[in-house]
Amino acid sequence: MPKQSSPKPKIALITGAARGIGATMAAHLAREGHHVVLVDALEAVLETAKGLTAEGGKAKGIVADVSSEASVRSIIAGLMEQGGVDILVNNAGISPKPNGSKTLVQDMELSDWERVMKVNLTATFMFSRGCIPNMIANSWGRIINTSSMAGRSRSQLAAAHYAASKAGMIGFSRTLAAEVAPHGITVNCIAPGRIRTPMSVEHGEKLNEEAIKRIPVGRLGTADEIGALVAYLASQNSGYITGATIDINGGEFMG
Ligand code: NAD
Repeated sequence: MPKQSSPKPKIALITGAARGIGATMAAHLAREGHHVVLVDALEAVLETAKGLTAEGGKAKGIVADVSSEASVRSIIAGLMEQGGVDILVNNAGISPKPNGSKTLVQDMELSDWERVMKVNLTATFMFSRGCIPNMIANSWGRIINTSSMAGRSRSQLAAAHYAASKAGMIGFSRTLAAEVAPHGITVNCIAPGRIRTPMSVEHGEKLNEEAIKRIPVGRLGTADEIGALVAYLASQNSGYITGATIDINGGEFMG
């Protein structure tokens, strides 16, 4: 059997990587030998990157707001000097729940709606747009977008802006997947159900206890389970999966 050419280490950019799912995705990609660039609005991203370097990985942290076009452009321009981005994981996200519960549409401020769209959806567009030309030049690329079960089905806990932004990521990814498929680039979404992270414990355990009753597997998911899925979608072997949305939700929603 012809041996697959051994790929050079890839540069992987992961947004929302200071903590939670994004930090664990970065750890899994670093363990695969990729050079990981962690972007987050929290300064803690620098420590997260240092931790990966201490474990033997190649990691760099960048503090930035992913909703700023100027920041996105400057991050991508900086990485172009080091070879460009091969693997892009759009993972930064917010799900505002004032006082621990979702805001009804009738009570939602336009500014809240726009903020959620910018961080969750527009940033995904801006990073993808910026990274694609170099992926096309290399005839290879992987774009993985963190959607949500809230974008796949009726949302139990999240508000309409969050659900709309996550459903928007799925539509965006399908269109982009078809555009770039001839260039060896895949674009996929993952749609996690409830995963134990700072975001999901922010408002106490009561919401999680209620969620577990609806999950056939009988527990919350772990960030490691998501990290392993992302490592696969970023790999050479996943080249025939594109435009897909992969549910990872313990059976709570079966699409
Ligand atoms: P988290 O809050 O622990 O992590 C999100 C990260 O994104 C944080 O580090 C945060 O600082 C960063 N971020 C937020 N806004 C940013 C901005 N403007 N610029 C840069 N960074 C920003 O949440 P998590 O649970 O790890 O969520 C990660 C992704 O997974 C999100 O997109 C979330 O919507 C999605 N998700 C989470 C769950 C869950 O149950 N935890 C379920 C479905 C989908």
